[in-house]
Amino acid sequence: MSPEASAPGDRTTPRDRAAAPLPAWAGLATRLVHGGRRADLNAGSVVYPIYQTSTFHYPAPHTEAAHGAYLYTRNANPTIEAAEEVLRLVEGAEGARLFASGMGAVSALVLSLVRPGDEVVALTDLYGGTTDLLHDLRDRYGVVVRELTDAQARDPASAITDRTRLVMLETPTNPLLRVHDIARWSAATDRAGAILAVDGTFATPVNQQPLALGADLVVHSATKYLGGHSDLLGGVVVGPSRLLERIDARRAYGATMDPFAAFLLHRSLKTLQVRVERQNENGRAVAAALERHPGVARVFYPGRTSPEEEAIAARQMTGRGGMVTVALRGGAPAVERFLERLELVHVASSLGSVESLASVPVQTSHRHLAPAELAARGIDASMVRLSLGIESSTDLIRDLSQALDAASVVAPPSL
Ligand code: PLP
Repeated sequence: MSPEASAPGDRTTPRDRAAAPLPAWAGLATRLVHGGRRADLNAGSVVYPIYQTSTFHYPAPHTEAAHGAYLYTRNANPTIEAAEEVLRLVEGAEGARLFASGMGAVSALVLSLVRPGDEVVALTDLYGGTTDLLHDLRDRYGVVVRELTDAQARDPASAITDRTRLVMLETPTNPLLRVHDIARWSAATDRAGAILAVDGTFATPVNQQPLALGADLVVHSATKYLGGHSDLLGGVVVGPSRLLERIDARRAYGATMDPFAAFLLHRSLKTLQVRVERQNENGRAVAAALERHPGVARVFYPGRTSPEEEAIAARQMTGRGGMVTVALRGGAPAVERFLERLELVHVASSLGSVESLASVPVQTSHRHLAPAELAARGIDASMVRLSLGIESSTDLIRDLSQALDAASVVAPPSL
């Protein structure tokens, strides 16, 4: 028996303590490690098990036990709930609901909260899948969608009307890493009685806490930093019970997370703060190094665009994250040479993983946009988006610099 179990005067068993709520004083790193702990009554496993089942034995009907029992995994599953509990704790929310993907989370949120005729205010540079969903709701279901340019989004009070029901904000944005003022948006949506939902995928709860800044709901693609190992798909909506109860329509829409993905996510969340702090360091080091490279025309990094954005980022972010976008001198041909020469960094879309990834927005996340739409957003073929992992910053800078050196040398014309 462990010394813990026989502590004098302590009548609780380790299994009881595993099921006890976390002390209120537990900080973020502790919540990530211990959040969602529950007693495994079968074997006393320290790691909460995977209930990889679609259904559960149903207790005799009309008994006390039947009320609140698990019935069917599309409705509820203990492994999914354990991971939800961690996310609830780290965002400081009343509840969290997991979905099969980030888009599963975004679509359940929007479909549950808006009706035909309602107005949704959105940034033009939201994640492309979210924009596609809003356009579909506009074209087929009569939802009014008003998309704001970056300049319009700087003045929330005049961007919202009486009919605005939902504001979809993303900060930092993709791929230009622009920063929007969550507290200012919250003041404007509160006055108008609208709901403010913030997609915090790029920032993670380690770097930014939108609910504490006044947002009503936070959504993440858990596929990215929360999962962090490029091995699962998931999404989460976090917020107050009064809104989550409406979003529980997800059970009918069916984008439930698989229990195995929830287990992987719960495992990954334990290291979220450690990973993100390293990614913050790598982001800062790589942005600074690439700014000095002659092959780079411009570096995009949260807060770098203007003093106003720097002030917002300093107020609302505790770290700037591991995403850096670079515009290369020499345009698309230089980008092609750069990607071919990378030795460590994988050329792949997605982000937030332990391994560094490079992708070209005009070929991946923004490939559906017409040239005029790209130009309006300030996105072009010279840009490469880097998602920095947890490798050593020295190695990353070395790999990126050697690929840039090679890309910047234009071969002499053949004779
Ligand atoms: N939100 C943001 C900011 C994203 O970058 C993504 C995906 O890249 C999504 C939502 C959608 O997430 P998923 O790919 O998990 O459906």
